[in-house]
Amino acid sequence: MQTLSQDSRQSSFQHDVLIIGSGAAGLAVALNLEKHVKIAVISKRALQSGSTLYAQGGIAAVLDNADSTESHVQDTLIAGAGLCHEDAVQFTVEHGKESIEWLISQGVGFTRESSTDNSDSQDTNGEHLTKNDYHLTKEGGHSHRRIIHAADATGHAVSSSLCDRVIEAENIEIFEHRVAIDLITHKKLFLPGNRCVGAYVLNDKTSQVELFSARFVVIATGGASKAYLYTSNPDGASGDGIAMAWRSGCRVANMEFNQFHPTCLYHPQAKSFLITEAVRGEGGRLLLPDGQRFMHRFDKREELAPRDVVARAIDHEMKRLGADNLFLDISHKPAEFVIKHFPTIYERCLEFGIDITKQPIPVVPAAHYTCGGVITGPDGRSDVNQLYVVGEAAFTGLHGANRMASNSLLECLVYGRSAAQDIMSKFEDIPPPPEAPLWDASQVTDSDEDVVLSHNWDELRRFMWDYVGIVRTNKRLQRAKHRVDVLHQEIVDFYSNYKVTNDLLELRNLMTIADLIICSAIQRKESRGLHYTLDYPEQLPIAQDTILTPTNFSARDW
Ligand SMILES: Cc1cc2nc3c(=O)[nH]c(=O)nc-3n(C[C@H](O)[C@H](O)[C@H](O)COP(=O)(O)OP(=O)(O)OC[C@H]3O[C@@H](n4cnc5c(N)ncnc54)[C@H](O)[C@@H]3O)c2cc1C
Repeated sequence: MQTLSQDSRQSSFQHDVLIIGSGAAGLAVALNLEKHVKIAVISKRALQSGSTLYAQGGIAAVLDNADSTESHVQDTLIAGAGLCHEDAVQFTVEHGKESIEWLISQGVGFTRESSTDNSDSQDTNGEHLTKNDYHLTKEGGHSHRRIIHAADATGHAVSSSLCDRVIEAENIEIFEHRVAIDLITHKKLFLPGNRCVGAYVLNDKTSQVELFSARFVVIATGGASKAYLYTSNPDGASGDGIAMAWRSGCRVANMEFNQFHPTCLYHPQAKSFLITEAVRGEGGRLLLPDGQRFMHRFDKREELAPRDVVARAIDHEMKRLGADNLFLDISHKPAEFVIKHFPTIYERCLEFGIDITKQPIPVVPAAHYTCGGVITGPDGRSDVNQLYVVGEAAFTGLHGANRMASNSLLECLVYGRSAAQDIMSKFEDIPPPPEAPLWDASQVTDSDEDVVLSHNWDELRRFMWDYVGIVRTNKRLQRAKHRVDVLHQEIVDFYSNYKVTNDLLELRNLMTIADLIICSAIQRKESRGLHYTLDYPEQLPIAQDTILTPTNFSARDW
């Protein structure tokens, strides 16, 4: 373990609120705090980064008179396969409309009804609303039109506006290329109580570790889908915040529920490119490497079966055949139709030498969303005092065993706002943080064998994909547990002896995440929602969360 010392050459910063993460959740907290609050927002990459930037579809909210809170609640509960917390669903849905109004007030330009060109849209269901100012679409699981969007790049619009507002704000300081390593708590400082007072942060440009002290700390670091070989998420979705909170004593829940998107482009140079479900909606056929169709063997709706059914069928066939990928073919449709309906996919695939009007697209399923996370209440508070967790890193009870499309950005906004309100309600009562020692790297050296990192990184994501992926068995989970225990020790050794780098920190966190996912999956003796195991194919009559507590956990202490 790297130790702490007083080294005056290192930088230290003091703020009222430290926000780790600059996606929708982190920026929603920052912009909802009062203007006299001194805020630091840190991001391990550029300010505009994270999954928020890549969200395509939109944000779910009850905005149309024909729709209702009850209906949105019911749809969410059904998607969650009996495991949603009804109070969390109700709370989220009730705050939907005001969250969208807030985004509009921050300058987000959602697509208006009049500006919609139906013929060019990639909306999954191809239907369009005519009742409101803003255009609403309908996605899988939603029984009404309630997805507000900015064309097919909603995340980009949300992220751009919120980043602009944060840059303008005089009370918000932005720190880019800063990787939070670990939280500083009273426990670590041998002080009484259980309070979070800051974080150690790697400056990725100078390689120095900086000390950020704050009265309140907010984790908004996004999901953990990088634990899998194939993911739709951008680099950096390594579950850092979940792992950091876990190491500081927070409970986590339902980490076994990982949502997989059925079709991501398979190409060595193509990272994280989704092939929208609309391709299947417009007649696209899934094919085996020998050109045979296979979906009829899994579901009578064939290619139009729900997302998890299609992902499971593709996974089954890939494992059965030992294939690296399968194919999605739309080339039987006229070329003009394909180019008109899917211009972005056409262009992107062409960059990789794939002409989708003439040949099938190589695809694999990809890890897309982390339903579990750090347990929080409706105000974003975690088990550690003055530590809040919001967005994809949090477990609020909203998603249950399966996230309904477009509820996740809504969750970022609703809980980002309520966390800010809770911080303001306690603001005057919380004293400044105590002094914390600076980071001491005097006992560690530069690594001379980074191959250990790249090897372990590949191995972890491969065995998570093969053994803890879409279809699980007891045997596969036990194999994965064995592998993760061995890798754990290697990474602990590496962390103790070498200077921290972004790659090492992400691998260390991914190892913790993998362990949490595996242990949660082993505990669930049923198939429910996104967790499917051949050993327990039935759903149990009583739905229960899988809650892991750091003190009772078998995994090694970091
Ligand atoms: C391709 C794609 C499409 C999607 N489409 C939709 C959609 O249409 N509708 C919807 O509701 N949801 C969608 N989602 C899901 C949604 O985008 C995410 O759940 C949501 O954006 C998460 O927001 P967040 O603020 O929690 O995290 P993110 O937006 O992922 O932001 C995380 C932030 O934390 C920072 N960070 C991480 N670790 C550290 C660290 N150690 N130190 C410092 N900073 C750190 C990152 O740099 C980043 O700034 C989609 C996701 C993907 C990947």
